[in-house]
Parts: sequence; C-alpha cells; structure tokens
Amino acid sequence: MRQTQKIMLAFSEATTSELNEILEHRFFKEKKSPKSKSKMSLSKQQSTATMSTIKQDNFGTKNIYEIIKQMRLERNAPVDIVGPQKCFDKDKDIETQRFQILTSLMLSPQTKDEITSKCANRLLDYTINDIANMDESELVKLIYEVNFNVTKAKRIKELAQLVIYKGMPKTFEETIKIKGVGEKIALLYIQVAFQRVEGIPIDVNMIRICNRIPIFKEKSPTKLRKFLESEFEHEEWGDINETLVGFGQQICLPKPKCEQCKLKDICEYYKLKNTSD
Ligand code: SF4
Repeated sequence: MRQTQKIMLAFSEATTSELNEILEHRFFKEKKSPKSKSKMSLSKQQSTATMSTIKQDNFGTKNIYEIIKQMRLERNAPVDIVGPQKCFDKDKDIETQRFQILTSLMLSPQTKDEITSKCANRLLDYTINDIANMDESELVKLIYEVNFNVTKAKRIKELAQLVIYKGMPKTFEETIKIKGVGEKIALLYIQVAFQRVEGIPIDVNMIRICNRIPIFKEKSPTKLRKFLESEFEHEEWGDINETLVGFGQQICLPKPKCEQCKLKDICEYYKLKNTSD
C-alpha cells in the first residue's frame, strides 16, 4: 500500500477529535525554530519553504475533503435526492433521457434543487417534439417557479429544435456551444448522460466553501476547477461536485451552521467570525 493510501485509510478510520488533532499536527508541525533555519542558506530556506507549503496544501486539501465526506455519509442533501442530474425518466429511450438530463440542468442555475426538480418533472410528460413545437408562453407556465423562467424556456425550446435536426450533443465541446449551457452544466451532462467524467463541475456552493476554509482563495470557477483537478486523482473527480454541493446545502450554507461542522478548528472564516463577534 502506498504511503498516501495508508494516510487516507487512517483518516477514514479516525474520530472527529483525532481528525482535528492530525490536521493541526500536519498544518503546523513543519514550523522550524529560527535557530535551525539560520543554519541553511537563503536559497535552501526558500526552496524548503516552498516545498513545505506545497506539501501541506496538498495534504490539507485531500484530507479536508475526507472530513467533508464523513459529514456527508448520510447523502440526504437536496442534491442527493432531487439534484437536477437525477431528473430523467429511465423508461424512455436514451435520446429522450439525455434531453431530459440536459433540460433539467439548464433549469437549475440560480434555483434551488427542490424547485428545479418540480419543474423538470413536469417536462418529463412531454416529448422532444412537443417541446420544440410548444408555444414559449406555455413552456414558461410549466417552469414558472424557476428563476429566469422566460430565458430558460426560450433556451430549452431552441435545444429541442436543435436536437430534432442534429441529435443530442455527445461531447463536452458540442454541449458547451449550446445557448444556456456553461462549463458546469456541460460537465455534469456528459458525466450523467454518457458516464464520462471530463472535469470537476464547479458551482457557487463549492466556491463559497473553498474560499472560507480556505482550500483555494479564488472566485473563478475555471481556476477552481483546474486547481481541484490537479489535487485529486481522476477517479475521484466524479464525486467531488455532489459531495461539496451537499455540504454547502446542509452545513456550510451562505449562513453557515458552524456548530455542526468538523472543520471549525481549521476554518479561517469561522476563526474570523468568532474573533470579530
Ligand atoms: S466552520 Fe463554518 S464556515 Fe467553516 S467550513 Fe465549517 S460550516 Fe463552513
């Protein structure tokens, strides 16, 4: 077993207090006394400091994620139950299922999963042809609870018309060209509709969490995606979105429930909030 695997196994078996203890130890143990530093040349000190930071950051990100996974064991967040990527009819033909997955995802921006699911479920009663030929105002009525319903209805009708002539997109590159589809939706669609993980889809919950702890202080979804993709093995990518989104829906909400969180001891946001209160 590789050293990293051994460490991860130890983490998965540790209790909360043990986890915090390990994290504190790992984060701070490499601090050296001024005396021992002074024995090194300046360039060696700089190089050691850089290496040490990279090692700590790498270790930190993966293990913070393991703690979040522990807090998400029950998988009972809205994203687990009514996430837009779960809203399709398995009894329909594969092309229709893919259309339903993509339309459901297109309904989701700026809207809670419960509302998206309610509207997406209404659309399951209609074929691609029905939606392509439906009056736009009719479509708006079917999805009226989602935010930006007029624009979303227009984009979904355009998608249905496109699909009739060209079929459903089969790659990330084809998908992201569709109006109303961004990087997150395209990656989730390819992952669910084709079982291909081509990247880590990033949403606002993930940006908030990663900036608070912090895992990565950056608001750009593309930069955060690239950072997380560099931190984790490809086989782990497929689960990261749902794990972090659920954590953001249940505990690290915009108004966080820090008292329930196992990351309090290392969270910068929590420390700042409690210092300023
Ligand atoms: S301590 Fe609070 S702010 Fe920090 S990660 Fe946990 S829930 Fe979020």
